[in-house]
Amino acid sequence: MSMQSEKLIYLDNNATTRVAPEVFEAMRPFLNELYGNPSSAHTFGREMRRSVERAREQVAALIGASDSGEIVFTSCGSESDNWAIRGALELNAEKRHIITTAVEHEAVRNLCEFLGEKGYEVTWLGVDGYGLLNLENLRAALRPDTAVVSMMLANNETGVLFPVEEIGKIVHEKAGALFHVDGVQAVGKVPIDLQKTEIDLFALSGHKFHAPKGVGALYIRKGLSLPSFIIGGGQERGRRAGTEAVPYIVALGAACELAQSGGAHDEIRRLRDKLEDTVLGKIPNAHLNGTNDREKRLPNTANISFEYTEGESILAHLDEEGICVSTGSACNAESHVSSAVLRAMEIPYSRAQGSIRFSLGRYNTESEIEHTLSRLPGIINRLAEMSPYKA
Ligand code: PLP
Repeated sequence: MSMQSEKLIYLDNNATTRVAPEVFEAMRPFLNELYGNPSSAHTFGREMRRSVERAREQVAALIGASDSGEIVFTSCGSESDNWAIRGALELNAEKRHIITTAVEHEAVRNLCEFLGEKGYEVTWLGVDGYGLLNLENLRAALRPDTAVVSMMLANNETGVLFPVEEIGKIVHEKAGALFHVDGVQAVGKVPIDLQKTEIDLFALSGHKFHAPKGVGALYIRKGLSLPSFIIGGGQERGRRAGTEAVPYIVALGAACELAQSGGAHDEIRRLRDKLEDTVLGKIPNAHLNGTNDREKRLPNTANISFEYTEGESILAHLDEEGICVSTGSACNAESHVSSAVLRAMEIPYSRAQGSIRFSLGRYNTESEIEHTLSRLPGIINRLAEMSPYKA
């Protein structure tokens, strides 16, 4: 580890996570001596195949798939989301209507905007001021020509959870549409049991829960023959061409096993609650973005607005102290428009622009949270004093 990362207080785990030592150890031999191709017929190749299949079982176990054959490895969450939605449209070619929400990650939002430009009709469901959906609006939006409904399980910015079990029932009861869930932020953070749901397609991404960047998976419910997105060789039973990224796939499996072994979850929640309660209790004009009902939010995320400040300035001051946070979603780091998620929640600009996402992970400690809490009030105070917006 570099000197710099040793000193960091990393509270940006929704952007990405550190590769867990256990995961790194599991993948290491596949980066050098275990380099065979799982498609090769010799013993060495077959050994790789077994490792890939074991990882598939580990992924299936974490998300409650009924069969490991329902898991297909991809390169990232964005690929899984793109494949799910475009595949569902191809499968239901006569249907031209898509339903999604205004608070999806760009992997879904920008794709649906693009598809809208290509002639599909997209219904964008809004959320209330707490980031929650009104399921009556979903019921009203479903039509016989709805091909796919795509919704996230956990919001990357606020951590708000959508009730995907209930949504799945509504989707299938009212229309023959496929139901895709972007589970990228939820996997490894909340329990998921796909067998108990009516989810047809489910995307996940390794780097959000301690596997390296560059590997993801798409769950495809048994019996659904989703057309391939990457066409070529017969890998992944002909569903996704390209030689399997064995080290990364093995790492994804190990990360799933680590997540399933639990352990860290209660402590992450306790530290997040402490951070959130103290900030909201101590800092004037601090507001939580997202529902107050913690059961309906990820246990690791706190998105807080500091009115009359700018998120970029808070981020820069915390950064100087070695504390890593995010303003909105990581993909927005270069742009200065306020977050689409907070806009959809109709958070006023004076609040939205001063929003910070704290996202905790299994390596955060009490002393890191205390250190952050000792620095934050002074920073916010100074910035608010300087604010031209302050009444
Ligand atoms: N969906 C959500 C909710 C996300 O938070 C992200 C990444 O931030 C993605 C999809 C895209 O995942 P990936 O970075 O693996 O492409």
